[in-house]
Amino acid sequence: MPTGTYNRAVQKVLVSACLLGADVRYHGGNASIDHPVLRRWAGEERLVSACPEVAGGLSTPRPPAEIRRPGGPGSVPLVVVTREGKDVSAACMAGARSVLELVRQHDIRVAILKDGSPSCGSTTIHDGTFSGARVPGEGVTASILRAAEVQVFEENRIDEAAACVAALEEEAASTRTRRSGGPGGS
Ligand code: SF4
Repeated sequence: MPTGTYNRAVQKVLVSACLLGADVRYHGGNASIDHPVLRRWAGEERLVSACPEVAGGLSTPRPPAEIRRPGGPGSVPLVVVTREGKDVSAACMAGARSVLELVRQHDIRVAILKDGSPSCGSTTIHDGTFSGARVPGEGVTASILRAAEVQVFEENRIDEAAACVAALEEEAASTRTRRSGGPGGS
């Protein structure tokens, strides 16, 4: 659970734009998923959609990019490079900062991001060899959001994200009740 006090009655949720059907992936397509929780949240106007790579100025379609760590596994700094070796780290960082700004603007504490991406990956990323292999790790945006205490879930953990949202709203409701003196308070 995130720490801190959240007073927003309806928690908004950040979702990778490609998961919501936007054609923003490197190949020009999307990664749309159909989930009852996402459908409900859409009806409640909770969803905030963002693609950090597009926000950072990269075009669609664009060459696929992966994270490499010149100092070896787990080392920093990291670079995000295309197969041809073009460094797109600055665009990915700019996109991550722009998504962080959006998160702050909407007081978002929960995000559902597309796993495997050098920006949105939250449990796995590609290993930097462009072979399709994945390794445990997180993308640039997921990392920045977690540092800002946003709970980041990958697209197969939407039910867990929903439980987190419900807990945040419960906490906010009980904070409001305490501040108003509780039921029957003057
Ligand atoms: S950067 Fe994130 S939102 Fe954009 S296409 Fe890649 S996975 Fe989807």
